[in-house]
Amino acid sequence: MAQMQSSTDVFNFATITSTQAVHAGEQRFRSHHSLTVPIVQTAVYTFDTTADLVNYTEERLFWNEPEREEYGRYGNPTVRALEAKIAELEGAQDAIVVSSGMGAVTSTLLLLLQPGQHFILTDNCYLSTLEFSQNFLKRYGVECTLVPFGDYDAIEAAVRPQTRLIFSESPTNPFMRCLDFERLVSIARRHKLLTVVDSTFATPYNLRPLAFGVDLVIHSLTKYLAGHNDAMAGVVAGRYDLTTPLRQMQGLLGNIAAPQTAYLILRGIKTLALRMERQNAGGLAVARFLEGHPKVRRVWHPFLESHPDHAVARATLRGGGGVVSFEIDGDAERAHRFIDALRIPVIGPSLGGVESIVSPLALMGYANLSPEERLALGIRDELVRLCIGVEEPEDLIADLAQALDRI
Ligand code: PLP
Repeated sequence: MAQMQSSTDVFNFATITSTQAVHAGEQRFRSHHSLTVPIVQTAVYTFDTTADLVNYTEERLFWNEPEREEYGRYGNPTVRALEAKIAELEGAQDAIVVSSGMGAVTSTLLLLLQPGQHFILTDNCYLSTLEFSQNFLKRYGVECTLVPFGDYDAIEAAVRPQTRLIFSESPTNPFMRCLDFERLVSIARRHKLLTVVDSTFATPYNLRPLAFGVDLVIHSLTKYLAGHNDAMAGVVAGRYDLTTPLRQMQGLLGNIAAPQTAYLILRGIKTLALRMERQNAGGLAVARFLEGHPKVRRVWHPFLESHPDHAVARATLRGGGGVVSFEIDGDAERAHRFIDALRIPVIGPSLGGVESIVSPLALMGYANLSPEERLALGIRDELVRLCIGVEEPEDLIADLAQALDRI
């Protein structure tokens, strides 16, 4: 990351402001003088005459993008408003909103990979992404090589004539490994490969992968972008030559997001910068507290000096985010007693919302793996993932302290 001398340089081009989070991609004047984006609750759009239909068809054939919608599976104005907002925030030509984060991952891989082709996946990624890549895609004759995160020589060594793309996450779930984009993109360009990065844990407030030369960025909108643990969707953003076929494929796969969901996420993004500032600060404060505690064996947060990717994280991220993974010094039983003693975070999966959530990962997300398979992924029974919400960091730290006192 040699060219990134000062963090200010990075922030100026690589992340967004609160003003952008509120206004990006939004039309100033809307029907009925509504300030907010209307929820257009319809499955069907009508035409006055057959001549309108002819014009619509010609327009669609010519521009590939009609000015209006025809049927709910092909588009919805509320969903399009969300797509326009995310495209602008990511610095992308276009964004496709789909029904979940996994919908974004799976449809991107299904679109870009054909039988006989191969791709490279960095490890320590979201488990469903790993399962889809390694197991499910095999039935379509697509091969995946898993390489250790951070080993750029291994990425290059894995390239074959059939390799089409590199898929990675930054920061990763659950150990917050962070990409050196310069190295990743230079390998990809040397071998004419596409790069796809799931940057759910960062959001465009902390990181904009496209600014580093990545081809497609993916998010689970369910997390920070929606921000309130009440909506589920995903997005893929990038250049038209990649997003246009993805949009066409969405009409066939039918993995669309509902208009109310799009509205909730549009609303959530308005406060993205405010929430991320709090969650960035809370995440680091909690990580530092845990790192200094004698009953905690190890802590992972990208802005801790002890994190394996600390230097790259500081060079690419505006903030380290609200997720802190850590091992209780002891066994599963001790870790469970600690979790049960917490008063503020709720026990559950997911992250990025206003409520703090604590996940015993061996029981949640990784429960269908054998203990050996979990260990191979670094998931020990005493591993805890804490996803900071927007509560006061000092309240969370006091809660963690009292729970640790009780074990
Ligand atoms: N990508 C990452 C990094 C995730 O953490 C998750 C979910 O936790 C997903 C994708 C999948 O998102 P969704 O649950 O919206 O399908």
